[in-house]
Amino acid sequence: MPLSRLTPAEISDIIAQLEQAKHRYNGWAKALLSQIACGPRSLAAFPEDIHCGWQDFETWYTGDSTTRFLNGLPAYSGIAKHLQAVRTYASILLGQPQGASPIEQSVFDAFMEQSHLLEWQMWRLHQEVRDILSAIDPLTGVSSRKGMISRLQQEQQRVRRTPDSHCVIGMMDFDHFKEINDTYGHQAGDHVLQAAISFVVGWLRNYDLIYRYGGEEFLICLPATSLKQAKKILERVKNGLEAMPITLDSGAEARVTASFGISLLDDSALVEEVIARCDKALYQAKQNGRNQIVAWRPEQD
Ligand code: GH3
Ligand code: MG
Ligand code: MG
Repeated sequence: MPLSRLTPAEISDIIAQLEQAKHRYNGWAKALLSQIACGPRSLAAFPEDIHCGWQDFETWYTGDSTTRFLNGLPAYSGIAKHLQAVRTYASILLGQPQGASPIEQSVFDAFMEQSHLLEWQMWRLHQEVRDILSAIDPLTGVSSRKGMISRLQQEQQRVRRTPDSHCVIGMMDFDHFKEINDTYGHQAGDHVLQAAISFVVGWLRNYDLIYRYGGEEFLICLPATSLKQAKKILERVKNGLEAMPITLDSGAEARVTASFGISLLDDSALVEEVIARCDKALYQAKQNGRNQIVAWRPEQD
């Protein structure tokens, strides 16, 4: 499962563990340098402690239940090579008998280089996970608008390159959402929004995309989908939403409906223009009485 499918809280947890692993690694490297420079009685840096510090770090990298989510990230696989090299050089350095001839410069340099590269990959991994977290809307857990346009441009290029391929963009806006807030309060409104979006996500295929466009407006991208298929998919989403009671903390049951404006993401317009087409169709859906799907037509311009 990709990291972006986790909740923001779960990703924050992974970041905390990553920071801890970084800290453990730094502690281990410091203890090792102290041992080779000052001897085993220098700190609490006896060989067993060094061994445990390393093992903790390696266990995080290879065996921790959360690191499987990091698997697809470039920096995560980048760590493997340096980990192996650091392990090899460290065992040479620690294997030198006390008081024996000085440590060979080339081995020490190679250890330091690999150790710095490993730390750098850890820093990169940290950045990559933070970037993923910052691209997730904290309330609903779907993607925020960050990176949305370039991702949609990629889909548009795919349509351009693949004969008979289609892609549909839909703009979804909840109906009379202000009334939900006015009736139940803003916090309950947040809960309704979370529950409704979780329901919508459950109906989408795992290659579909959904972004929080702003407020209670969401952009849905349905790759490899014709306009007719998109209508069918979104009709199910719309009907399911309408039929779903959302239980609030107070025990009250709220209901929501949504309106959709959709358009093909073809070659006839820029991504931003296709989004504007969806907005026009959405406006039409609201004008027609809400809780419906309207496809953009050139006459709407
Ligand atoms: P319409 O059917 O025309 O869309 O009516 P509407 O009341 O939904 O109107 P509009 O879309 O313009 O307003 C959206 C409302 O949704 C206003 C805003 O307070 C509320 N809203 C937007 N984002 C959030 C949010 O994150 N949480 C809560 N509770 N309310 C939100
Ligand atoms: Mg609305
Ligand atoms: Mg709105």
